[in-house]
Amino acid sequence: MLDAHCHISFKKFNSDREEVIARAASVGISMVDSAVSVYTALRSLELSSIYDNIYTSIGVHPYRAPSVPRDIIEGIKKIASGGDIVAVGEIGLDYHLKHKSEKQESVFREFLSLALELSLPAVIHCRDAEKEAFEILLELDVEKALFHCYSGSISLAERILEGGYSISLATNLCYSKHHRKLAESLPLKSIILETDSPYLSPVKQIKRNEPAFIEESVKVIEEIKGEDNKKIKKSTKRNTGRFYAI
Ligand SMILES: [Zn+2]
Repeated sequence: MLDAHCHISFKKFNSDREEVIARAASVGISMVDSAVSVYTALRSLELSSIYDNIYTSIGVHPYRAPSVPRDIIEGIKKIASGGDIVAVGEIGLDYHLKHKSEKQESVFREFLSLALELSLPAVIHCRDAEKEAFEILLELDVEKALFHCYSGSISLAERILEGGYSISLATNLCYSKHHRKLAESLPLKSIILETDSPYLSPVKQIKRNEPAFIEESVKVIEEIKGEDNKKIKKSTKRNTGRFYAI
């Protein structure tokens, strides 16, 4: 399988990163790591050059976008442009905790332009701003974009898919009613799965999520769709691989 979005380059994995990667590899799981700083971008590129099951995506998270100095933004763009990456992101809009600002939107637009320039897909983080982000994608004629850990409405999800964009469901699917409903409404051919590790652990006893836990989401999809495990794994892997062209 392919974990469409995680943060294996984050500090939370510093003490046992190799073991976490090996655990995923042992059950055939590859992952797209989302780096959101100069430090994680360089680490992610290093990891993807060492491990066959790691791919890199680079962006600036909307939480941080308003406060990141100009030279750091330029540095991240430079690393993204020169590195072997599969997507630009995560980037986006997050209006949840009063993060809304002009700078957030301008950084989002800037990185969407970078994705277009590099002919790469964009990975979008959105909270309480899905509609606004969708409209910007249409306005800029962005070709490929994935709303990662999508949490918006079912009706907007339908419009996003009709617009040719993609949606991924994170492991909060295992405990969130809203995400379960989303999974019910999406056809299997449109379902992309991710863990967003180290966040959103689906395993109660273990606080830190990891790519191998994507199997928990497969079980939920199995139950919802009444399809067998193998078919779900094959289908979601194909959908994710198609999006990232890997
Ligand atoms: Zn993330």
